[in-house]
Amino acid sequence: MLDSPHPERLVTGPLRLSRRTVLRAFVGAGAGVLLSACGGDDFDPFAESRPAATAPSAEVDEQAAVQPADQSSSQQAIVSERQETVSSEELPEPLVYILPSSVAQGETVLVVVEAPGAVSASLWWQGQSLSLLHRENRFVGFFGIDANAQVGPRALGIGVWGPDGEQLLWQETVIEVVAFDWTVDDIRIDGPNAALLDPTVRRADEEARHPHQVGQSQQLHWLGVFDPPSDGQITALYGEQRSFNGGPISEYHTGIDFGGETGSAIRAANSGVVSWAGRTRRRGNGIIVDHGAGVFTGYYHLSEVLRTPGTVVEQGALIARMGATGLATGPHLHWEVVVRGVTVNPLPWIRLLEFPDPFQDLNPAGALQSTNLARS
Ligand SMILES: [Zn+2]
Repeated sequence: MLDSPHPERLVTGPLRLSRRTVLRAFVGAGAGVLLSACGGDDFDPFAESRPAATAPSAEVDEQAAVQPADQSSSQQAIVSERQETVSSEELPEPLVYILPSSVAQGETVLVVVEAPGAVSASLWWQGQSLSLLHRENRFVGFFGIDANAQVGPRALGIGVWGPDGEQLLWQETVIEVVAFDWTVDDIRIDGPNAALLDPTVRRADEEARHPHQVGQSQQLHWLGVFDPPSDGQITALYGEQRSFNGGPISEYHTGIDFGGETGSAIRAANSGVVSWAGRTRRRGNGIIVDHGAGVFTGYYHLSEVLRTPGTVVEQGALIARMGATGLATGPHLHWEVVVRGVTVNPLPWIRLLEFPDPFQDLNPAGALQSTNLARS
């Protein structure tokens, strides 16, 4: 059960740098220092000229490249707060890292931009723009690939802006989403639990939780790799395609399950702020922790929830107790990692799969080859 299916797919392509590598380099000198965001969710540098979400271009075509619109008023406000002025001509070309460059369904993608002197950076992906968090010379952002995401090439755009509101970089690249060979399981549910298979029950569960795991708080609350939230054995993996009582496949397993005894400790996988605590019929008692940068963890089927929304929790803090509430055939923890609303494979986050040297610095040779359309 613990065998990692296709671990080689987790970091593929030429950019063999791990998330942990980057985060360590990113926050290493300032443990405990929270990152401040540049721009916000209301700042949309791609407004008016954003490419259609349904027709991502698989080709990087400089002639056809979409240029983001001129700077918005909010961007101008950000610029005006800056005291020093540096000519963009003096600034080095920003370096962009995509980790990994080729991803399997269910994985998390990390984008890092090294851009000394720049004041904001955003990425465009699947019709959405995301402001990257900024600290010193780096900008960082995450996004998730759904377990059932369509495979094939997807366009990714990255924009960087300088102190005078000028665009320093507009770069487009392609991320290859490859298929993951998920297992298929038929789950037997009977008795009172069978009523919880009703799609309306599932929808109500999603609607209760979704608003609390889609935003991007303007800070990065965690440092380093996440810890497993339970001492129990993993009993079910992420991505498993599920049918119930012999029916068609109706959903995939959105997290990993830890077995154990009712009442056993459930701990925060990493530091963050509780964004939701409550109960739904499907998930039973649950709690969601916002780790910042659009990354959330969710804990479900709990017998007891010990923290309330708004509470700051440290990594390893006792936040709940294992149970079998909701749609559960026995006591276990259903644990999810959610990146901007997309449930991703939690295993890479808790280091159960092999990563490259975690202490490696980013090597400029690993950066994307420049296709800086802003300067061309
Ligand atoms: Zn589960």
